[in-house]
This record gives sequence, C-alpha cells and structure tokens, in this order.
Amino acid sequence: TILITGAAGQLGRIVLDQLLASGQIAPSSIIAASRDTAKLADYGARGVALRRVDFDDPSSLPAAFAGVDKALIISTDALGEPGKRLNQHKAAVEAAAKAGVGRILYTSLPQPDDSRVTFAGDHLGTENAIKATGIPCTIFRNGWYLENLFMALPHALKTGQWYSASGKGVIAHVARADIGAAIAASLLSQDKDSKIYTFTGPVAHTVDEIAAAAAKATDLPLHVVHVSDEQLAEGLKSAGLPDFLIPTIVSFDTNTRDGKIAMVTGDIEALTGRKPQTLETFLEQNAKALT
Ligand code: NDP
Repeated sequence: TILITGAAGQLGRIVLDQLLASGQIAPSSIIAASRDTAKLADYGARGVALRRVDFDDPSSLPAAFAGVDKALIISTDALGEPGKRLNQHKAAVEAAAKAGVGRILYTSLPQPDDSRVTFAGDHLGTENAIKATGIPCTIFRNGWYLENLFMALPHALKTGQWYSASGKGVIAHVARADIGAAIAASLLSQDKDSKIYTFTGPVAHTVDEIAAAAAKATDLPLHVVHVSDEQLAEGLKSAGLPDFLIPTIVSFDTNTRDGKIAMVTGDIEALTGRKPQTLETFLEQNAKALT
C-alpha cells in the first residue's frame, strides 16, 4: 500500500491521478489522506482508500500510517511561520516510524543545507529526522514550480515592470505536473536504497530572460527593475503584502542571486522517460491566464 498525505492539495492530486493512470497498482492499494477526506470523495468513488490525517492533530496519526508500505509525506503550506512546519513534519515522521512503514518519501527543496530561503531549515530538519529513523527514504528536492510565476507575472505584465532582487541568478522552473509524474514513478519503483532527487526544469534562466520570454508569449512589454533586498521589501510592503510574508518572499530572490537554486538535473526525465516542460511552452500555454 502507498499512503499519500496532503492528498487533497494540488501536488497530491497529480500524484494520485498518475498512480491511477499507471494501471500498475490497484486503487484499493492507494490510501489518500487529508485533513478533510470529503475533498477526496471523487477518489473514494474510484476505489481509493481515504483516511484523515492532520499533522497538528496527534490523535489522527497512528491510524493514518497503520499498515502502510510507502508513505509519501507532502510538506505542508505553513510558510509564514518558520519552525511550525518542522514540528508538523516531525510528528508525521515519528508516526510513520512507529507504524513500521517500509519507506518514507518527502517533498523538500533544493540545497536545503545552504539555501537562503527563510523556511529551508524546516525542510533540512525534516530530511534529518527522516534519516535518523533509519528507514529507507526518498527525498524529492522540488525546484520552484513554473506555476509560481503566477504570483509575480500578472502584476508585472500589467505595469510593464518587474521588481527583482535576483540579479543574474538563475532558476530552472519546473511544472508541478512533471514533479507529480516523477514522484508517482518513484513510488511505483522497486527501489531498495535511499535516494535523493532534485527536480528542475530543462534550462536555468535569469529574471531578465524569464521577462523576455513572458513579453514574447504575451506580446506585452516587460522590463526588469533590479533592486536590492531592502528596496524589494519596501516595495512589497507598500503593495500591501502582509509583514510576515515579506522576509520569505525577499529570501527567494536572495537565494536565486546567491546561486542556490541554479542547478539543472535530468532527474524528471530519468523517472518519467519524458523531457520536462520548458519555460517557453508554459508561458505560451498560459499567456491568456497571465494577463
Ligand atoms: P497546496 O497549497 O496545493 O497544498 C498544501 C498542502 O499542505 C496540502 O497537501 C495539504 O493537505 C497540506 N497540509 C496543510 N496543512 C496540513 C496539516 N496540518 N497536516 C497535513 N497536511 C497539511 O500545495 P502543492 O500541492 O502545490 O505543493 C505541495 C507542497 O509543496 C506545499 O504544501 C509546499 O510545502 C510545497 N510548495 C512547493 C513549491 C515549489 O515551488 N516547489 C511552491 C508551493 C508549495 P490537505 O489539504 O489534503 O490536508
């Protein structure tokens, strides 16, 4: 049996869809777990087992992990409070170990040991907690989703200006669907050893290159305004972003500028047998939605 926590989230659903589409596992051998199983009724109707799991509710954990061979722990979205996610994930890892799962799989971020991202410590701490159990594990260090471009690009395209502190740093954004497909392939493999994958898109780009590609795809002018971390923080504050999020958003640009999200790997293709989606294709397919 394969358990997926956070199954009602966007990545969780993609992994479920890919497992079901593979035909390599019976629906009844898949357990979709969520804080709210009602959100998974469509999967229940297809024969997938449903369980409630909430890492903040210790009473939900033993039954959630019972009798599971492989447990995919999808990291939670408690972004603004560094430390909270680590406690949530540690509770899940401890419950998985107590239940005797055969393998723990986890969604982390690239270079957790020297990342500049405010919450990187949560992921590093979780990876270490998993290693400390001695249970075979698979760590998926997920690069930034192409879909994250929906956070900055619509406003940038509206104003023609994209404020960035990422300098000449590069990112190989990767489609969430490619990550989901690669995770599903890994879940279906017969791996015995522990593994670490870093999932990236096929090419790493600077913010100027991403802006040029977005301008081309949408036929709108877009100019990058290069600012310092402090200027970016001021701009985000005057744009009305909540205080607790500002250091996190700025840390993404610091991280890029410092070359901590620059790597390009072939890990998606190695697992799925397909090349991951390119930035240009994503922008062309989403040109309307971005404007
Ligand atoms: P979503 O925002 O769609 O999903 C949030 C996830 O967090 C859901 O799976 C949800 O599970 C889970 N969750 C929240 N609170 C709890 C809790 N108390 N106990 C258990 N699970 C909880 O994100 P995505 O699916 O797109 O991405 C998956 C994860 O990847 C994110 O949660 C985040 O950690 C990370 N991420 C990575 C990005 C990247 O660019 N690489 C960008 C954004 C996020 P449910 O609702 O089923 O209970």
